[in-house]
Amino acid sequence: MHYIDLRSDTVSHPTPEMREAMARAAVGDDVYHDDPTVNQLEAEAAALFGMEAAVFVTSGTQGNLCALLAHCQRGDAIIVGDTSHIFRYEQGGMAQLGGILPQPIPVQADASFRLSDLENALNPDDEHMPITRLVALENTHNMAGGVALQPEKIAEVAAFARRNQLKLHIDGARIFNAAAALGVDAKALAAGADSLTFCLSKGLCAPAGSVLVGGQDFIRRARRARKVLGGSMRQAGILAAAGLIALRTMKDRLGEDHENAQLLAEGLSEIPGIIIDRQNTNFVFFSLAAGLKLSLPEFVDALRDDYTILMSPYSSDSRQLRLRTHYWIDRPAIEKVLAAVRAVLS
Ligand SMILES: *Cc1c(COP(=O)(O)O)cnc(C)c1O
Repeated sequence: MHYIDLRSDTVSHPTPEMREAMARAAVGDDVYHDDPTVNQLEAEAAALFGMEAAVFVTSGTQGNLCALLAHCQRGDAIIVGDTSHIFRYEQGGMAQLGGILPQPIPVQADASFRLSDLENALNPDDEHMPITRLVALENTHNMAGGVALQPEKIAEVAAFARRNQLKLHIDGARIFNAAAALGVDAKALAAGADSLTFCLSKGLCAPAGSVLVGGQDFIRRARRARKVLGGSMRQAGILAAAGLIALRTMKDRLGEDHENAQLLAEGLSEIPGIIIDRQNTNFVFFSLAAGLKLSLPEFVDALRDDYTILMSPYSSDSRQLRLRTHYWIDRPAIEKVLAAVRAVLS
């Protein structure tokens, strides 16, 4: 059954070109640094962000954790957004496995930090307190609704980090969505950062994998961290081959997903009973109006059962849904979704 799956961009699957490249990929044992396709992916990823080196990891969560383990010692503290993926959705891996204390500060609507919040969270050199070692940003910001963080805001945090001898890590799971939305080079979004993680899956359609980029010595330590986390793979070139296509071609078409998200939001906003909450990059949030006969689960079930369209409620206690566009949601699919929603609510 073919579904129009708007639940997330993580449901995107590899393109035919990726499957062919995966079948043909030259491989070796990557733990010996012998996999030419992984080496190529790491070299291209580092160059894209103007960094010295990179390491291919199994997931974004693993990339972020490798970064924190490589930057920090046990007992260090890091400043993170209170709604960040690293703080909320990675099982507190930094504390659980790394002995690192997260110090959360508010994330603003534009995904930025307030300088005063950063300053208040920074521990002084006082033996009562953990040493603040790092600050982490997220771009695009998931919980802030997929909003792209502006380069000037990154520069402010980078300057704060430099003034205070802190490392700056960027969780750039969707950094290429940010670059497309802002009309800037990915490199501009890594300026001033010591490390950055990005996902090859999600909007870029690779079946698995993320890349962590940073300095040579840092990446050597991150590779050690990846090993102890069980993330070192052998003939991983099969996966990296899809990753190379993600980097070479798929990252440059994300603007289409953003246009489709905008079309979807505009179309939905014209349907009685629908309230558009926000739309940024490839994210659309909308709610069902209070007076509707249909409950949220009934709405979702009707779209699935009668129209093969998948949507997921944003949280169980609200009437809000979150949609994400991706490569497999084209213009005709958007039209079908709008017609189906109109029919279900009529
Ligand atoms: C998806 C995502 C990650 C990584 O998630 P994995 O599922 O582990 O690949 C990290 N940060 C953000 C903001 C994400 O959206």
